[in-house]
Amino acid sequence: MKRSEDVKVLLHLLKSNLAKSDGGPPSPRAQEVLKAMLHKIGQTQEVELTCGEVFDLLDQYTEMIMNDEDVTQLMPLVKQHLEMCTDCREEFEALLKVLQNSPVL
Ligand SMILES: [Zn+2]
Repeated sequence: MKRSEDVKVLLHLLKSNLAKSDGGPPSPRAQEVLKAMLHKIGQTQEVELTCGEVFDLLDQYTEMIMNDEDVTQLMPLVKQHLEMCTDCREEFEALLKVLQNSPVL
C-alpha cells in the first residue's frame, strides 16, 4: 500500500473542497478540519480491525483489562481501535462497568 500517495490525493481533494470560491486559502476552520484528518491518518496503521471484529473481541479484551494483563502487547489492534472509535469505546466502557460491578466468581 502506498499510503503517502493516498494522503496526497486526500489532501488535494480536501484543499479543493475547502478552498474559498474566490480561490483564496482555506479558512482557519477548514485548516482545522484538515489538521484533524491528517492526525487521523497518522494514527491509522496498515492493519485495522472493523467494529464487528472489535465487538467480537471485546469480552476477552475487557477480561484482560480486569486481570491487569498487558493489552498493549496482547491486543494492540483492539486497543488502537478503541482509541479511535467512540462507538466501540462506549461499548467497552459499559462492559467494563458491568464486569467491575459483578461479584467475583
Ligand atoms: Zn469501532
